[in-house]
Amino acid sequence: MSPIWKRVVYPWLANSGYLRRRADGGAFCVVTYHGVLPAGYQGGDPQQDGTLVSAGNLRRQLQLLKECYHVVSPEQVRDWAVEGKELPELAVLLTCDDGLLNALTDMAPILREEGVSCLFFALGASAAQKARMLWYEELYLLLLAAPAGGYTFGALGMTVELRDRAQRRSAWWNLVKKLSQYDQPAREDFIEASRIQFGLPDQWNSERTNNEAQRRRFGLLNRDELRQLVDLGMSVGSHTLNHPILSQQTSELAWREISESRGLLEDAIGKPVWALAYPFGDPASVTTREMQMAQQAGFECAFMNIGGGFGASLPRFALPRVHVTADMSLSEFEAHVSGFHRDFRSRLTGATP
Ligand SMILES: [Zn+2]
Repeated sequence: MSPIWKRVVYPWLANSGYLRRRADGGAFCVVTYHGVLPAGYQGGDPQQDGTLVSAGNLRRQLQLLKECYHVVSPEQVRDWAVEGKELPELAVLLTCDDGLLNALTDMAPILREEGVSCLFFALGASAAQKARMLWYEELYLLLLAAPAGGYTFGALGMTVELRDRAQRRSAWWNLVKKLSQYDQPAREDFIEASRIQFGLPDQWNSERTNNEAQRRRFGLLNRDELRQLVDLGMSVGSHTLNHPILSQQTSELAWREISESRGLLEDAIGKPVWALAYPFGDPASVTTREMQMAQQAGFECAFMNIGGGFGASLPRFALPRVHVTADMSLSEFEAHVSGFHRDFRSRLTGATP
């Protein structure tokens, strides 16, 4: 979107009340967060951190939703999915993906103060007592830390150039796609072998665990922390075991990721886990195969991470969501929630939403 939309058009549409009038009557809207940047955290990669919002922005967004919309609980949406119960007008469901530690330490306290609850999509990996970071985030940091040069990864049949940031980012995404075809131990082996290949010390990433703000930004919730989140009145859904691109996997691996995560999380929190959010959540990573698997694994509904906002159609196993990013102004946020942004964009590009 051009800056004039962000700075002029969206604020005008929001201030005139047009956006919320437009949202009226369109079932419900789901927003996706990925956590809150922890207090004292600095020096991150802007692109990597672009999905986490500031505490101030989260609070302003929640206050807008409470004032002009109707924030519903995850259980109300489950009743809508399972029993066909109606939701209130202008209903908005809050969700948050990945289950980073800051969900508990920095986000949940704000949700509590504002009196709203949220559906947190955690990894099956978080059901263990010792949880590490997301493998694709660790991989990204590793590629940023690698000395500039060209590298060949024989096992994957790939050669990459790691010099400027754009090259590192593109190599990273190609590796994420490739490594998604493997299981988690193989991915961890690859990361370790690459560390050695890059000549980085064993402790190259120790700041992420030793520094508290870094730990909250990058660490995954563990079993106890997951329970604490539930004790604070939050709900937990599954985001698969380890966050691969499911469409890249064999059916056997994808099925394990989807079905085993449910049982592990239920065991950890002692409550039914009825919702799934597909990792990455775009049409390239989710096919009808994954949607069928979600249903077969016993989930009541499953969420994409695109196409959200009022007025969208709501297939139970491909529920659209508004992906909230760090750079969204409040009026831009409302343009997404109202469905205006989605419809306007699809008119511009001629694409069907
Ligand atoms: Zn995710």
